[in-house]
Order: sequence, then structure tokens, then C-alpha cells
Amino acid sequence: MSIVLDGGADAITGDGKQRNIVGYALTFLLWPGILAACLYGTWLGFEAGHSAIYFNITYLLLALSLFTLERLLPHERNWLDNDGQIGPDLAHTLLNKGFAQVLVVVGVTIGIAEVAASKGGGFWPGDWPLAFQIILGMLIAEAGLYTAHRVAHEWSLLWRFHAVHHSAPRLWFFNTGRFHVVDTVTSILLSQPLLFLAGAPSEVFIWVNSTTAFIGMLTHCNIEMRFGPLNYVFNTPAVHRWHHSRKPAEGNSNYGENLMLYDVLLRTFYCPNRRPPTDIGIDGPMPASFAGQVAQPFRRIQAALPVTHDDDQ
Ligand SMILES: [Zn+2]
Ligand SMILES: [Zn+2]
Repeated sequence: MSIVLDGGADAITGDGKQRNIVGYALTFLLWPGILAACLYGTWLGFEAGHSAIYFNITYLLLALSLFTLERLLPHERNWLDNDGQIGPDLAHTLLNKGFAQVLVVVGVTIGIAEVAASKGGGFWPGDWPLAFQIILGMLIAEAGLYTAHRVAHEWSLLWRFHAVHHSAPRLWFFNTGRFHVVDTVTSILLSQPLLFLAGAPSEVFIWVNSTTAFIGMLTHCNIEMRFGPLNYVFNTPAVHRWHHSRKPAEGNSNYGENLMLYDVLLRTFYCPNRRPPTDIGIDGPMPASFAGQVAQPFRRIQAALPVTHDDDQ
């Protein structure tokens, strides 16, 4: 028995390729399976008492797995071609990781969490099972991440920086870290303090930030997968491909970094039953070099703010 995969939001390659039923079922299992494996790696790290080392190994293995799967099962074959942006993508990723780590270290050094907890500012339900504490942490952090992302699309001052991410000409695991560093810092400052103020313990921080890193890389990957109802819960590659559409009516949606809850509640969820756009990017200038991209938000001529007009709907 064979099934033709074409058309529809969860259809995938668009090249009408036929696959057998096992391959079809596998496309549903890939995303949750890979995420579960990453979370298992994180759990092993806690068990071994070396969460940072285990996270880095898991993250590297995830990157290697996605790189391989993108070549075996590409969603969009054209997105395998070199776009000349590997250098800038890598440079943005390293700069962002450096800044994120400095901010987290500063936060921990100052001991905001302890201060918040000792002053009774934290309401954290430390007696809940860890899994529920992590889910609560994800929901709290997501409120800040959703807000940061949405204002980056609606305020021209912040769009200047966020446009660097949207200028990617293709989606693949490697441009997960393609963010202007100001954009990254804004997201961190709007999400991490919420967890601090809630009094979340460091274990929950590590779980939330590790999960965010795993889901982030999965979100951008160029792999043929299906998600079914998971699209309503998580920021899957399917919903995020719509977010990268060049059309504002499609792209001003799906702001969630990990979870779609706030998009569903605030009516910014968008995932129609057809193939997501391959025409992605921004309308406006974006230099090809890393230094040019870092400087671009400070220049006079900018990519137009992606404004949704009523007649676009
Ligand atoms: Zn965006
Ligand atoms: Zn993206």
C-alpha cells in the first residue's frame, strides 16, 4: 500500500513522492520522538549531576541528526542549496549564545531567584511533581517570549532587529540562531525575569531553557514531518513555516516560541490546510555579511514593517 503525500498543511514534500505506510506513520513520530530523545538526554544529565555537559552533547547530537534527516527527508528540496549565509548564521548563533550565557550567569550571580524567594515574591509550587513545575515554567516563560516576538512584529523600532531573523532565504536547522543580538536580549529580558520573580528553582530554569533550545532547532528544520493536533500545542515546523511567509497576513501569526497557547487564546494562530509558503523573507534591504546585518537596524533605509491589511485576510 502506498500513500501519495501532496497538498494540505501537513503534506510535505510537494514533489508527489510516494511512500509506504510505515514511512507515512514515521512522519508523525519523528518530531515527538526526537524531542523525547532530547528530553531524555537532559534527564540523564540531571541523573549524572552534569546537566550542562549532557545538554551540550544532546544539542550537538540533535544538530547532527537534523542535518542528516534534512538530506534524507527534505521538506523543501530547494532549501538544501547553499544560500551563502552559513557564515553569518554561525556568527549570529555564537554571539547570541555568548550573550545569553552572560545574562544568565549575571542573573544567577546576583541571585535574583534567591532574592525573590527570600522576600516572599515567589509563589513557586515547589511541592508539585517536577513535570508540572516544568510545564508551569514553560507557560510563564512563553508569556514573555510571545510578547517579545509579537511586539517585534508590530513596533518598527524592534522590527528593525527582528528583520534579520526573517531575512533568511530558507529554513533549516542551522539558521535557528540567526537573530540580531538585540532581538535575543529583548526576548531573554522579557521571559527570564518572569521565572525569577515566580521563584522558579534553577532546575526548572535548566529544563525550560533546554526545552526551548531543542524546540527552537526543531522548529526551523527542513524535514518532512507531520504533526496533526501537535500544531495546536507546540511551535512545530509546520506552524513556524507560516510565520516566515513573506505575506504579512500569513507571517504575523504563530508568535509562540515553544507553545501555541497564547496564539490560540489571542487569535494569532494560523495554520491553514495547505502547503506552507516557500517564498519566505522580507521586503527590504538586508546585507549579506554578518557585520552588515548587525549594523542594518541602525541604518536609515529599513525593511517595511509587516503590516496586515484587512483586505489581506
Ligand atoms: Zn518573527
Ligand atoms: Zn524563525
